[in-house]
Amino acid sequence: MSSWQPIYARRAERMKASEIRELLKLLERPGVISFAGGIPDPELFPAAAATQAYGEVLADQAGASAALQYSVSEGYAPLREWIAGHMAGRGVPASADNILITSGSQQALDFLGKLLLTPGDTALVTAPTYLGALQAFSAYEPRYDVIRPHASNRTPASYADEAAKATSGARVKFAYVVPDFANPTGDTLSLAARGDILDLAAELDVPVLEDSAYSALRLEGDELPALQAIDAGRSGSLDRSRVIYLGTFSKTVAPGLRVGWVCASRAIIGRLVLIKQASDLNVSAINQMVMHRLVEGGRHAELIATARAHYRRKRDAMLGSLEAEMPSGVSWTRPEGGLFVWATLPESMSGAALLERAVEEAKVAFVPGAAFFHDGSGANTIRLSYSLPQEPTIAEGIGRLAALLR
Ligand code: PMP
Repeated sequence: MSSWQPIYARRAERMKASEIRELLKLLERPGVISFAGGIPDPELFPAAAATQAYGEVLADQAGASAALQYSVSEGYAPLREWIAGHMAGRGVPASADNILITSGSQQALDFLGKLLLTPGDTALVTAPTYLGALQAFSAYEPRYDVIRPHASNRTPASYADEAAKATSGARVKFAYVVPDFANPTGDTLSLAARGDILDLAAELDVPVLEDSAYSALRLEGDELPALQAIDAGRSGSLDRSRVIYLGTFSKTVAPGLRVGWVCASRAIIGRLVLIKQASDLNVSAINQMVMHRLVEGGRHAELIATARAHYRRKRDAMLGSLEAEMPSGVSWTRPEGGLFVWATLPESMSGAALLERAVEEAKVAFVPGAAFFHDGSGANTIRLSYSLPQEPTIAEGIGRLAALLR
């Protein structure tokens, strides 16, 4: 080949390496305290239980045959049943037919982009939002428009008009939100904001993609209802709901098994099953069977309780150090859950420039916030994750960062 460039499809132009993936390499540099990776703490992984579960699944001929075979695209039936029960616990009247097992919720983001977006269509996102969602959607060449759930919002008509103006005849196709302890801000949508987003979606008659990746990791305060629970109540049934819920075991059990799910109307699940077949046939049967063993019989609740206590200590260490050390002019969020604190630097400062100096001079890493804005704004913001370092290391790292900022 003389040049690959002219051969690539147009959608490939918008695919770029995630800054975060590049940054994860910093984790390996000796002496660098990293607040960069948004990944779960491996200390929490149920390694012994997983070893036992793999052994049990493979112990007899019938189990081994099923575990090592191709399987149905919808997912392992007992796991779908379990998830339907879990969704009922969140106030969503789901049955197993409303569940599709996916390879993490990341795959669901890709599938929903594929199902819903024609090039030029508008996707409504918050700014900032989860970078991996932008990457997944961008392959389907949407335009983005911003929802501001906490501020006064634009009228539904203005979203529709701008979508049609930007690409002749195109429309808003969905709103994507991470309502609980969002990546990257740690923010949670109030009950009123949840209602507002559902109202906006109803006016535009579009679906809401509810990414619940961190919902189980509430560290304080009362649980708020899932948008899907509110909407199923409003519309009378899950099959009539406009909310498509993305769940995952990555933050509560382990991301390495790659098991997540979509909970939605049977019409949407049926469409997604076709995409699943074409994409990779099914999620690894053995991993689904193991995941089922890891969560059934109250085990999921135990894992969540342990994770909450663990991350609560780390969050408190980070917030305490920020309070004690940061110079004036720097502000930050106080998340009620999840893994992230979002800090805003003085207007004139750049998070990316600070990162370079922080790694060199203070041996501290984090993610510059601009990566999470679809339009590259947010230059003076940074994301700090407290997930991986131990508490004394968190204090040390925030102390070093604050000294550099001073
Ligand atoms: N949504 C959000 C908001 C995330 O932060 C992540 C992982 N970082 C995902 C989805 C994807 O996670 P997974 O594919 O492991 O379920």
